[in-house]
Amino acid sequence: KPEKSSYDVVVLGAGVLGLATADALSATGLRVAILARDLPEDVDSAAFASPWAGANWSSFGTNDRERRRDTVTFEQFGRLAKSHPDIVTRRQFKYIWNKDKGYSSPWYKDVVFNFRPLERSEVPGPYSEGVSFESYTLNPHKYNALLASRLRDRGVPIVRKRVSSLDEAFAHFGPVNFVVNATGLGARSLLGVEDPAVFPDRGQTALVRAPNVDICFGVRDADMPTGKAVYIIPRPGSGGCVVVGGTNIKGEYSTLPKREMAESILQNAFEICPELANGGKSWKDIEVVSHNVGLRPAREGGLRLEIEERMLESDALTPEGGKSKPRPVAVLHCYGIGPAGYQANLGVAEEAKEITLKFINKLRP
Ligand code: FAD
Repeated sequence: KPEKSSYDVVVLGAGVLGLATADALSATGLRVAILARDLPEDVDSAAFASPWAGANWSSFGTNDRERRRDTVTFEQFGRLAKSHPDIVTRRQFKYIWNKDKGYSSPWYKDVVFNFRPLERSEVPGPYSEGVSFESYTLNPHKYNALLASRLRDRGVPIVRKRVSSLDEAFAHFGPVNFVVNATGLGARSLLGVEDPAVFPDRGQTALVRAPNVDICFGVRDADMPTGKAVYIIPRPGSGGCVVVGGTNIKGEYSTLPKREMAESILQNAFEICPELANGGKSWKDIEVVSHNVGLRPAREGGLRLEIEERMLESDALTPEGGKSKPRPVAVLHCYGIGPAGYQANLGVAEEAKEITLKFINKLRP
């Protein structure tokens, strides 16, 4: 017989969704372990999305479920902004455009603070209208480090391993019956999942030093070419760094920054926020720290957050050489969040916890 595992749940993946879900599950008393190829401290790894986010709270929720996740996260960011202002900061956002497509009345106007139309004189660059509100920006490296240290303090191991198949996650720490699949883009190639609906949404950005910029800007324009985005996100706790972007190019895997793209990102950002150049007269005066690319783990149909019951055909052979029988197991899939992993993470984790507890309680006699 296979030996008993010390864990109830194995979370596969240590991006923001894996960490937040592990945190929510372990807080209920479940014994959780994390297995992942890339760990929170791998902030230079292009193999996962989480180190490369802006990151801000600016919801794209299109249905009640997505909006609830974002709202839950927004509320908890409020608490974090008070306890950890170097990780999450409340600040002014200005969203601007020439051609409105509902941007002047987003669904979240009553969730964020002080939502109002901009006066014409407050609209920067070649744009004609806009709104102002207050929301949050966060430092993704510090945010993930905070989650990881909370997990480690609670005794949750975060172990580096690249698995080839989902089955391996059920056996690595001894036999467990429940795995959370938070592998992001990895879900496309992970044997036993191989979800063809998963695709990369490539985002190129520049990290620049501009300590005097403290407003978060975004261009929302119905005439914006597909794949192009313009945003400026001051990063808390980074010594005055700002993320400027960017792109949303679907299906593209290249992790190398492109020169023309980099120049156009800096030019577009300078147009709406000349302060980025620290008193310089041109976008060429912006002090660039690094040019970066991250692949958002997107999915046709959005985040997959559901349980799948399966039969595990065999575990590793026991030391005695005995063979194990097929056994029923379950996986909670939690991947494919695309561009919204941070702004939704705590809402996703809460939902993942509810689904898991309901499933586990159903199995109890
Ligand atoms: P990932 O971070 O990709 O993590 C996947 C995990 O699974 C990793 O640990 C990986 O190693 C592991 N894994 C995969 N395959 C295997 C395997 N075979 N074996 C073991 N482990 C495996 N979101 C926002 O909310 N706000 C923003 O402002 C924002 N801005 C962004 C800007 C850019 C440029 C980019 C690129 C993203 C941005 N995002 C933003 C999106 C956000 O970064 C992602 O939604 C989020 O990081 C996804 O997290 P995840 O945990 O699902 O996946």
